[in-house]
Amino acid sequence: MIGHRFRCYPGRQQENILLRWIGCQRFIYNSKVREDRYFRAFARKALSLTGQKPPIDQQYSQFIGPDTAWLREVPSQVLRNGAVRWKQAYSRFFQKLSGRPTIHGKGGEQGVWLTRELFAFEDDGEGGYHLRVGTKKHPLGRLRYVADRPHTLPASIVISINAGQWHVSFATEDDVIHPRPAEIQAELSQWDEASLHAATIGVDRGVAVLAYASTGSVYAFDPVQKQRMARKERQRLRWQRRMARRAKGSSGWHKAKKRVARAHTYANNVRKDFAHKTSHALVMAPGVRLVVMEDLKVASMSRRPKAKTDERGHHAPNGARAKAGLNKGILHSAWGKIRTYAQYKAPRNNVLFLVVPPHHSSQECAVCGHIHPDNRLSQSRFVCQRCGQTDHADHNASRVIARRGVTTVIGQCKSLQQVGAVRPEPPFPDGYAGGDQGQSQKGKRPTAHRSSKPETMPTTAQAV
Ligand SMILES: [Zn+2]
Repeated sequence: MIGHRFRCYPGRQQENILLRWIGCQRFIYNSKVREDRYFRAFARKALSLTGQKPPIDQQYSQFIGPDTAWLREVPSQVLRNGAVRWKQAYSRFFQKLSGRPTIHGKGGEQGVWLTRELFAFEDDGEGGYHLRVGTKKHPLGRLRYVADRPHTLPASIVISINAGQWHVSFATEDDVIHPRPAEIQAELSQWDEASLHAATIGVDRGVAVLAYASTGSVYAFDPVQKQRMARKERQRLRWQRRMARRAKGSSGWHKAKKRVARAHTYANNVRKDFAHKTSHALVMAPGVRLVVMEDLKVASMSRRPKAKTDERGHHAPNGARAKAGLNKGILHSAWGKIRTYAQYKAPRNNVLFLVVPPHHSSQECAVCGHIHPDNRLSQSRFVCQRCGQTDHADHNASRVIARRGVTTVIGQCKSLQQVGAVRPEPPFPDGYAGGDQGQSQKGKRPTAHRSSKPETMPTTAQAV
């Protein structure tokens, strides 16, 4: 399955209709939650006498009454889907995948789940689609949405609003079957170290530069993005303070809340966009088969750099300014997103994504493996105290990470052989090995056994 999420732009009237649908679906969902609570809390005793269990069904007509006549103003399928959503949440609870369904609040992202009777994708004649929403009785008309990549047709969609922005999201069948990471790893573990190294990208995640690849590529927010994010962050804090001062629930409080959410959304969109572009570039780099990152060293990232003094006892620049430039939350979330996106994008391009332990990656020499704090002369300069290798510190770290990834892939194969998980070659007499068997053995032959058996063995067997 592939998930899609596109921006959509309902008109003022469409917006009002959608908001009503969202509210009504949420009302049914929450009513089911309350009904279930009632049954479990008060009615269990009575029901146990009659031998009936509290119903977990999709009935919702009991919620439509004189007080809730407004529910009749939306398509019945919208209401039914609210009950179905609740039942699906309940079955996830039974499968121990989540907690019992709870009341959906009015904060955060709000959406309405629409099944096939409520929408249609119509060919627009240019390879794309028009999205038509609603039923004959409750038409919404054509909903403008921007598909920035082609998609196939889904069975259901969710139209949602968050901080004033509308999205349409859905999942479609993915018709290409991608290899599983374990399969790619099994293939790569048969490679020799030098070729695997050539096909590996190590990525060091830093503060000044968000991602430094061992290929030399550098990925960072551009100055405009940084500036805008910092400004939005200040706005967010300001509106948050105002919100705290205002009476909860008042119109001023609601306005402040909206502004907080909007400021938050901008930074979030920039991060997402950046993470998508970076992960895409890493995974799609020509010839790459292995992308390695380190597990985030959260502590050292968030620590303030040590104060430095020059010969006169004055404070010298120590990089604290660079670290303080962006909110830590923004950085962390961007790093996390790059990792998540790279992880799911990698198998689509037949690439293995690995995470390696981060210990001392900034102090280790990528050439000779010498680990010492003195190797790192400053924030950006790396000079190995043993072999004299000099490099940009982040670039050196990314090479160390790449090497750790290669060792993990090749080393794992060796350790598997030691425990016998990879079948060693059976000892058979020279004249016995048939051509077929010899061939298949050749393909599977573990590298560690190469020296113990002559390379030409299967060929000679074939010749016999
Ligand atoms: Zn060295």
